[in-house]
Amino acid sequence: MENTLHIVGGGMAGSEAAWQAANMGVRVIIHEMRPQVETFAHRTGNLAEMVCSNSFRSDDDEQNAVGLLHWEMRAANGLIMQMAQRHRLPAGGALAVDRDPFSESVTQALLAHPNISVEPGEITELPSDGHWIIATGPLTSSALGAAIQRETGAERLAFFDAIAPIVYADTVNMDVAWLQSRYDKGETEAEQKAYLNCPMTKDQYEAFIDALLAADKTEFHEGETAGYFDGCLPIEVMAERGRETLRHGPMKPVGLTNAHTPENKPYAVVQLRRDNALGTLYNIVGFQTKMKYGAQTEVFKMIPGLENASFARLGGIHRNTFLNSPTLLDDQMRLKSRPNIRFAGQVTGVEGYVESAAMGLLAGRLAAAEILGKPLPTAPQDTAMGALIHHITGGAEAKTFQPMNVNFGLFRPVDGLKGGRRGRKDRYKAYTDRAKEEFNQWLEAQI
Ligand SMILES: Cc1cc2nc3c(=O)[nH]c(=O)nc-3n(C[C@H](O)[C@H](O)[C@H](O)COP(=O)(O)OP(=O)(O)OC[C@H]3O[C@@H](n4cnc5c(N)ncnc54)[C@H](O)[C@@H]3O)c2cc1C
Repeated sequence: MENTLHIVGGGMAGSEAAWQAANMGVRVIIHEMRPQVETFAHRTGNLAEMVCSNSFRSDDDEQNAVGLLHWEMRAANGLIMQMAQRHRLPAGGALAVDRDPFSESVTQALLAHPNISVEPGEITELPSDGHWIIATGPLTSSALGAAIQRETGAERLAFFDAIAPIVYADTVNMDVAWLQSRYDKGETEAEQKAYLNCPMTKDQYEAFIDALLAADKTEFHEGETAGYFDGCLPIEVMAERGRETLRHGPMKPVGLTNAHTPENKPYAVVQLRRDNALGTLYNIVGFQTKMKYGAQTEVFKMIPGLENASFARLGGIHRNTFLNSPTLLDDQMRLKSRPNIRFAGQVTGVEGYVESAAMGLLAGRLAAAEILGKPLPTAPQDTAMGALIHHITGGAEAKTFQPMNVNFGLFRPVDGLKGGRRGRKDRYKAYTDRAKEEFNQWLEAQI
């Protein structure tokens, strides 16, 4: 097998992957379809173009999981972070950048690298030999999308995400909510208590429907067809179809008994389903939405038991091509059915510029190490990069897999620390301290 690494897609992930692999001494070819083939969101032919916001979010590496990912990428000599720093704009604690100079300087750095070349053009088939990383992002071209589906099965590559909001389990008020599966279904106690249930009276339900109907919503981008499939209608659209629709759909109260007041039959029930193996995250079942983020927090906090909930991520419906990574990829990010191909970036089911670049960094290093004959273990699970890769290739529920951004709910607990809101500051500091130490050890082992 030839020793060149081919990277399809020069976005956040592909650019970072190329930089890392080239710095390890591997020859890299980036195949980028823009500007010959355009997407509805990109405006230029630059590599690493920011398609929407100009922010890499929080830069706090002690109390924020995204900030920790910044720290890890800087420690690994990441190109995206270097250029973001160079073109940084004042934005309080966030890392915002001047977008065009940022992507121009990423492009120039890659073109100037002696081990990297860029071959313009769309890749439309999955290659059968050679070393490849596919980093074609949320707007993967349709021809390549179809080729991926032929390999994986149509149901394992989605073209939209319909994300229900995800809540930190320890912020749910268990004096109001209770654990129970509908009709106590399941063989084991864990299965019979797989859901968190939040009850509503008639008045609470009516007020909730009013708030849903009145909330601010976002529209689809131009060129991004709505194409709701029936299984994932936004809740506010369901509410528009009739005030009782939700009560007969995701909020139906049947088969559930309020453990706190068994004599009171709830009028409606909001169910939350476990979202990760650790049991730290729960998603609100059937609550995909196009409400604006501010409106979502206001409306969802009206749900009894979620008055003080913190959200690991809010809901949304977007054009987004992504794999069912928990079933398709190994922890080296290789396609199990064709291990010469890795995937990286948003197409693996992470969400956001930072997460995508981080997955590119990891894939670039793993691929280069394999080409050089010195295979590398994937990032340790207690680092931010490791928590993400562990989630998408193993920890996440495969059946309900939806894209994920980095958050502390993906981290294993540190023993002996207080839970809940009060202990949060110490807990987050402990997570970030542990992650930095382990990330440094992982990097040192590569020297
Ligand atoms: C409309 C929209 C708005 C978004 N807003 C934000 C935001 O505000 N903040 C945020 O953090 N994230 C946002 N995202 C998500 C964002 O796209 C990702 O976080 C990030 O860009 C993903 O990086 P990536 O490298 O995986 O994909 P991209 O950066 O999209 O890079 C993929 C590259 O692959 C190329 N490509 C695709 N198919 C082929 C092919 N067959 N052959 C060759 N090249 C190909 C594309 O041209 C592109 O350059 C948004 C996404 C969309 C669609």
